[in-house]
Amino acid sequence: MEIVTRFAPSPNGPLHLGHAFAAIVAHDLAQAAGGRFLLRIEDIDGPRSRAELGDEFRRDLEWLGLEWEEVPAQSTRLDSYTAAAQGLRERGLLYPCICTRREIEAAATRKGPEGPVYPGTCKRRAIDPALPAALRLDVEKALAVTGQLFWMDELAGKQVADAAAGGDVVIVRKDLPASYHLAATLDDAADGSTLVTRGADLFHATHVHRLIQALLDLPVPRWHHHRLLLDEKGRKLAKRRGSPALSDRREAGEDGLMLARQLRLQHLPSGT
Ligand code: GLU
Repeated sequence: MEIVTRFAPSPNGPLHLGHAFAAIVAHDLAQAAGGRFLLRIEDIDGPRSRAELGDEFRRDLEWLGLEWEEVPAQSTRLDSYTAAAQGLRERGLLYPCICTRREIEAAATRKGPEGPVYPGTCKRRAIDPALPAALRLDVEKALAVTGQLFWMDELAGKQVADAAAGGDVVIVRKDLPASYHLAATLDDAADGSTLVTRGADLFHATHVHRLIQALLDLPVPRWHHHRLLLDEKGRKLAKRRGSPALSDRREAGEDGLMLARQLRLQHLPSGT
C-alpha cells in the first residue's frame, strides 16, 4: 500500500521548531517508503486563523528543504463537514449543547485528556432550537453502534480505542461547521492519508477519530504519534514560551537545511 503522510498546521501563529520536527518526520516517513507527503492548512479556527500565514508556512518548509503536495485547505471543505454531521444527526448520534466552557467546568465531575469531561447536561434537557448550539457526539450510543474498536500506532503498537475517556466530544462547534475531530478525520479520508503522522500530544484524539471513522465508514489509516520537542523546562515548545518562529530564523539567515539535519537526529526509532 502506498504511504501517504501529512503535515496539517493551523495558521494561528508562526511555525516553530516543534512544527519543523513534525513536518520533517512526516516528510521522511513518506520519502523512505516512496510515498507522498501532503500539506493541509487547517484554517477553520475562525478569527484565530490568519490566511497570510499559509505562504509563510510554505516558505518555511521550502527553507527546510522539504517537498510536498498541497491539498485543499479546510476552509474550502465546509460542505463535506456539514453533510457528514447531518448524517450523524439524522441517526440520532449528535445532540445540541448550549453550555458554556465555564458551566462545563463547574458541572464536570472528572477530567479527561482535553480537560473537564462534559457531564451530559444538555443530553437531558430540551433546548430552544433558536439558541446557538454546538453538536456533541453521544459516545455511548455511538459505541453501541460500532462495538469495540482498535487502531495501530507505529510506535506505541495496537491500541484499544477508548473514545469514552473524553466524554461526548464536540463534533460541530457553535461557530463552525466542524470541530477539529470531525474536520481532520474527514480530511484524512478524503486526502487518502494512510499514515497519520502527528505529535504525541494528539494521541488521545485518535481514539475519537477512530470512532468517527467507524461511524462514517471511512478508511482506517495507521498512525505515527511522534515525540514532542521540549524546552529546557520539559514543556512543549511554544512561541509564547520563547520558541522562535521559523520565519524569524529564516529571515535572520540561518541555514534551514542544517537545522533539518539536526532535527532528523532527534527522531529516534524508539519514539522516546
Ligand atoms: N492542526 C493541528 C495542529 O496544528 C494538527 C492536527 C493533526 O495533525 O491532526 O495542531
